[in-house]
Amino acid sequence: MSTPAWMEHAACTTLETRGLPWTIDAVEAPTVLVELMRETCAGCPVRLACAAYARTATGGWWAGVDRASEPEDLLDLLDVIPLDGAA
Ligand code: SF4
Repeated sequence: MSTPAWMEHAACTTLETRGLPWTIDAVEAPTVLVELMRETCAGCPVRLACAAYARTATGGWWAGVDRASEPEDLLDLLDVIPLDGAA
């Protein structure tokens, strides 16, 4: 399975952010690290693509939400995608 092209622009893959606990459930991570991930996602240029990609994920931190405990928040984020395809 190849890596989606949008991941090249992901804010979570920089030298400063890639060490954060992106793949564990947020309840298992220290609050300060969860807040750093939330801030990173808030400024990420590919957040909508990430949210769409993560619809099938059942855990980990995606698009600013913890998939295990906040799945509704990810669905709310997808509501802001324009229906005409303009982004
Ligand atoms: S929105 Fe997705 S791609 Fe962007 S920093 Fe967050 S987890 Fe990474």
